[in-house]
Amino acid sequence: MSGLVLLRAARSALPAALRRHLRTAAPRPAFAKELFLGRLRKEEVFPYPEINNEELEEINQFVGPIEKFFNEEVDSKKIDQDAKIPPETLKGLKDLGLFGMQIPEEYGGLGLSNTMYARLGEITSLDGSIAVTLAAHQAIGLKGILIAGTDEQKAKYLPKLASGEHIAAFCLTEPGSGSDAASIQTRATLSEDGKYFLLNGSKVWISNGGLANIFTVFARTEIVDKDGTLKDKITAFIVERDFGGVTHGKPEDKLGIRGSNTCEVHFENTKVPIENVIGEVGGGFKIAMNILNSGRFSMGSASAGMIKKLIEMTAEYACTRKQFNKKLSEFGLIQEKFSFMAVKAYVMESMAYLTAGMMDRPGFPDCSVEAAMVKVFSSEGAWTCVSEALQILGGLGYMKDYPYERYLRDTRILLIFEGTNEILRLYIALTGMQYAGKILTEKIKEIKKGNVGVALEEFLSKFQDMMGRKVDYGLVGERGVVHPSLEASGKKLEENIHYFGTSVKGLLSRFGKTIVDEQLVLKRVADIVINLYAMTAAISRASRSISIGLRNHDHEVLLTNIFCTEAYFKNNYAIAQLEKYADENLDDSIKKAAKQVLEKRTYICSHPLDRTF
Ligand SMILES: Cc1cc2nc3c(=O)[nH]c(=O)nc-3n(C[C@H](O)[C@H](O)[C@H](O)COP(=O)(O)OP(=O)(O)OC[C@H]3O[C@@H](n4cnc5c(N)ncnc54)[C@H](O)[C@@H]3O)c2cc1C
Repeated sequence: MSGLVLLRAARSALPAALRRHLRTAAPRPAFAKELFLGRLRKEEVFPYPEINNEELEEINQFVGPIEKFFNEEVDSKKIDQDAKIPPETLKGLKDLGLFGMQIPEEYGGLGLSNTMYARLGEITSLDGSIAVTLAAHQAIGLKGILIAGTDEQKAKYLPKLASGEHIAAFCLTEPGSGSDAASIQTRATLSEDGKYFLLNGSKVWISNGGLANIFTVFARTEIVDKDGTLKDKITAFIVERDFGGVTHGKPEDKLGIRGSNTCEVHFENTKVPIENVIGEVGGGFKIAMNILNSGRFSMGSASAGMIKKLIEMTAEYACTRKQFNKKLSEFGLIQEKFSFMAVKAYVMESMAYLTAGMMDRPGFPDCSVEAAMVKVFSSEGAWTCVSEALQILGGLGYMKDYPYERYLRDTRILLIFEGTNEILRLYIALTGMQYAGKILTEKIKEIKKGNVGVALEEFLSKFQDMMGRKVDYGLVGERGVVHPSLEASGKKLEENIHYFGTSVKGLLSRFGKTIVDEQLVLKRVADIVINLYAMTAAISRASRSISIGLRNHDHEVLLTNIFCTEAYFKNNYAIAQLEKYADENLDDSIKKAAKQVLEKRTYICSHPLDRTF
């Protein structure tokens, strides 16, 4: 009996009510956007989300066999060296059901919730190539069918995708269109009889491009707009390799995740039946963004899983290797690295499971900003932690006999794909600023209309700020939701949120709509709000842990307090940088220096050995 059959059997013994389906109800705003208004919707994030005992039991049934498989059957060194995942490893992954983690059971998948998917991501991330192959297949490759496909499309495609008999790929990027996804040139032209589209164009860097049988392809289509004019809009298609005219290039020779297949995919007069349009003709861009938004949160648990493994590996080394007659673990600078890795792992794990928990709530809240924050925080955290882990090993860390250099190479991609961190910072900041701007404009309108209540509220708020207010959102104190041992962190968070809101208000009135061009400002805004969300997640989780007496809860409190204190001071500095005339604000100088370099397209300082004669 295969692993998948065993897991399914265990699962079907559970009450049907416990089985989850991907929720597709209308989105509603979630927690993060409110932070831009200086508001804390604590009911959204306290208490920290929990799963019930049955769900925990269920997920643990998956965890054991998958961990065993990764420990015993996956040879990551060989996958990296051969730049290929061996067929028997792929078969093992399929047998475990890992190609259909979030596909509903009625289509042969495991039907996991976002939380459960995040949990398994901690294990599958132990091999970067496998993690990317699985994510390209289900987090993006087949996700369009799941979230926007018709019942017929689901019934036709999902069963073979769930079993892994078919592999999926997501085809958006083109040579001239990377971050600017709306500028793609691949074209789909409707046939005269209106029965199919002819697809022509080339996609680049498509994960699973050489393995896939099913492609989600984004192409331009001509549509008649509401006003009767012809417009070019993007449409999403399900394309089978068997439709003909589908070819792919040779696998790219990459820095990392070398075992994952990345290649060009070409479509030449590929006949795609109209039944294979996903969603509406012309509605493809939104689908692409929804697909990407829905998968990003899982990078948090995946990165945390990897860092936890690195901590285990390097701690063993640090506690045995001796220099200067002392163990490495006795040196403060080595200890600092372990504290750093533990804090990062704890916070990204907290953010990931908070976001997954929010996404699993009925009503399917719009968590795209939260998910983007998890992605930015965890990708950068993973990259710095791997570098620190390698450093603990010194020269050995640099050698191919050890896995650290591979982890380093594999991790670098996290900052680039699924939306680059630059684009995501802009997305996070602009989405929140737009939300805040809309509500503040409404307020101003109300004040202009003579709404005394709103005017008074604004006046009092400004007055309290001037007088050095005591910020209180009710996180701490008698009826607070934060455990007393985290009181100082809770207060820091409250203060940061309040002054962040004030800062956003100031920026909106200073820049108005031109804020979209102020990228350095937006970056700082994004960095602050990412820290606020990270602080919230850690405080909420640690409060739960200490309240229910989880093992080592004191350690969680310690990590949370370290993180919150550092984040608080960083936030204060960033808030100061957002002030137009503050000494901390170096934006004009930074832009000027960059301009001088870019004008000459070179480093322009004289050499230190140059002299005037
Ligand atoms: C290994 C790998 C696997 C991939 N898998 C897939 C896949 O399966 N499917 C798919 O469709 N694509 C895939 N991609 C493509 C990936 O999504 C793109 O590389 C990514 O979107 C960035 O596009 P680009 O590389 O063209 O960079 P560009 O868009 O050219 O950006 C270059 C740099 O400029 C920055 N930048 C761009 N625009 C702005 C702006 N407005 N403001 C500030 N900075 C900006 C970027 O952040 C980046 O740092 C993959 C890429 C790689 C490397």
